[in-house]
Amino acid sequence: MNRRDFVGIAAASAVALGLKRQGFAKNSAAPQFAITMDDFNWRNAVHLTAEERNRAILDTLAANRVKAALFVIGRNADAQEGMTLLRKWDQAGHLIGNHTYSHRSLNSDITAAEYENDILRAEIILIGSNGFRKLFRYPMLKEGDTAAKRDHVRAFLKSHGYRIGHVTIDNSDWIVDSRLSARLEKDPKADVKPYRDFYLEHMWDRAQYYDSLATKVTGRPVKHTVLMHFNLLNGLFLGDLIEMFKGKGWQLIGAEEAFTDPIFRAEPNTLPAGESIVWSLAKEKGTIAKSLRYPAEDGDYETARMNKLGL
Ligand SMILES: [Zn+2]
Repeated sequence: MNRRDFVGIAAASAVALGLKRQGFAKNSAAPQFAITMDDFNWRNAVHLTAEERNRAILDTLAANRVKAALFVIGRNADAQEGMTLLRKWDQAGHLIGNHTYSHRSLNSDITAAEYENDILRAEIILIGSNGFRKLFRYPMLKEGDTAAKRDHVRAFLKSHGYRIGHVTIDNSDWIVDSRLSARLEKDPKADVKPYRDFYLEHMWDRAQYYDSLATKVTGRPVKHTVLMHFNLLNGLFLGDLIEMFKGKGWQLIGAEEAFTDPIFRAEPNTLPAGESIVWSLAKEKGTIAKSLRYPAEDGDYETARMNKLGL
């Protein structure tokens, strides 16, 4: 092939790609997703220091010109070191949401009053950040194991001006991270690529599942919020993950925009309440409910395959 042919082919495929992208935009068929990162647990630093992990994640978001939402456990920002790391997120213009002070599941013996105090305790710490929004994410995505507790906390959040920072795409990134961190602790030179590959495959699998469930439940495309954690896994592979989604035609959007989707105002009547908002809306619909596992996601679902792969 001579150079002119090559240029011609390259130009033709660029046009085709452009048309494909345009087509997506016109039909709004490109699924949209935002990055939402939980816990801000920086004390478990392995391989990268907390500062390095923080920088790696923030640099990746900056390189993608996108704002994420960080749901902070109050106790991870109540001393200087944590607050110094958090300020970098604030300076970069990301959203900062409330994830309670001590990260207890509402589906436990905790009372509604204790849980609500834990929300306020985190708010006192986070409210000084410019990026703080009254956006609340339930720890472990658990929204109450009794109707009384579920409804009490919902009413409390509403009366304090909070919206719910639901997840649409749930997953178990945390189990991959805990295996990776344990391996690197034992063997600092271990190959990280198999963990990366497993992670990307798992996230893509869950994204397709929840996207298709969302369409079944709402009859329309929704703006997705992908659950992730502030962990080593994302310190290393967030960029690869974003690239994978983009490569499959998904469009990365800001967290603030994602949370404007009406799906985040839904209050499904399910018990135990919680999981992905897509999942609980599906649970509410009798016809789909039977096919759903509980919990919707758990490390246990992934460990057999991880064991088999030696991860
Ligand atoms: Zn959490």
